[in-house]
Amino acid sequence: MADRREIQDLPLWVTMRAHRAPASFELELTARCNNHCRHCYIDLPAGDECARAAELTTDEVLALGREAADLGALWCLLTGGEPLLRDDFAEVYVGLRRLGLLVSVFTNACLVSPAHAELFRRYPPRDLEVTVYGATRETYEAVTRRPGSYIAFRRGLDLLFEAGLPVRLKAMALRSNLHEFDEIGRFCRGHTADFYRFDPFLHLRLDGDATRNAEIRAERLTPEEVVILEGTDEQRIAALHRGCRDGTLIWPDTQEACRYGLDHIFHCGAGESSFSVGYDGTFRLCSALCHPDTVFPLRTHGGEPGTLRVDDGDEPGTLRDGALREAWEQWVPHVRGLRSAAPEYLEKCRRCGIVNLCAWCPAHAALETGRLDAWVERFCEVAQARATALREGDGVGRT
Ligand code: SF4
Ligand code: SF4
Repeated sequence: MADRREIQDLPLWVTMRAHRAPASFELELTARCNNHCRHCYIDLPAGDECARAAELTTDEVLALGREAADLGALWCLLTGGEPLLRDDFAEVYVGLRRLGLLVSVFTNACLVSPAHAELFRRYPPRDLEVTVYGATRETYEAVTRRPGSYIAFRRGLDLLFEAGLPVRLKAMALRSNLHEFDEIGRFCRGHTADFYRFDPFLHLRLDGDATRNAEIRAERLTPEEVVILEGTDEQRIAALHRGCRDGTLIWPDTQEACRYGLDHIFHCGAGESSFSVGYDGTFRLCSALCHPDTVFPLRTHGGEPGTLRVDDGDEPGTLRDGALREAWEQWVPHVRGLRSAAPEYLEKCRRCGIVNLCAWCPAHAALETGRLDAWVERFCEVAQARATALREGDGVGRT
């Protein structure tokens, strides 16, 4: 197989960061999906006409790709929902490739046809990332809530492998599939030699849907379960140790504090070398950052910033020329300059010694609480459990 180094490890990437060019961007082609996963933070029904009407058109997607490439972008991730649900997927994909962009695609693989496999063979993607929800039909469909989805997933995956495509597999750890997570890991490692990752953090809905959020919360593992699961993965434990800087559970405070000041909210990489565009043309600094104070509409009018749905009868609007450049050059610095006066944030998260073990970030805090600078009890519990496990060695990693 060709060089599988991460793009972020290449010297060019570092140079681009120094020049504040958007090296990569994510395009959420649709929020619609053929599945209806219990833990999903975005999915709307495949036939949701309202959501479909709000989607960026083919021309708009390609115009955004062109503008992003002009700004310096090299790499585009197509995601959803399920991006293959778009009738114009092939046109969009080839159009972006012809702009010279590396393109990755996140897909559940259920809709992959021989034509898709041929398309990817002719115009190779950087990679295709497929999520494995279960290793058996029962578990897979308990998560996706779509009868027949397991067979479709296996068929789609086989087509991709038979075409020799660079497929990466990943899994979400949730209550509905925890009992066969070892089997899921074996399935993934058995099919992809160079890449498998799992994620035990289930984020809440971008649209704030209360019923769906309750379902997501019910699927979350306890902090103890998260730690036990992570303890089975040596690479993950090693990465957590690296994040702690030589094993000391320390936030890289001096550098960060000088750079941003202690009351700044953003100290992650959101908007530093990448951005995300929602299916309705809403610019975000990262895919999870939907707080109304942080999003920027790239269309002249349409859905209210920070919402995912366009109300019935609302026109989705049209893409403004130069809107992406404006968002990147003016809006991003404004958002990254946001400051907090919340004592809890300033005293806890901003000075936290184990922040590198924590899922806390402004985007995730806002999804949990509606506030960018809120302390989140659940995140704290998981981070404390991780810190305890690392300190004690817990039978894995370093002691
Ligand atoms: S397949 Fe992916 S996008 Fe679709 S419902 Fe499941 S998690 Fe959501
Ligand atoms: S939630 Fe807790 S562990 Fe996470 S950054 Fe805040 S204080 Fe630290």
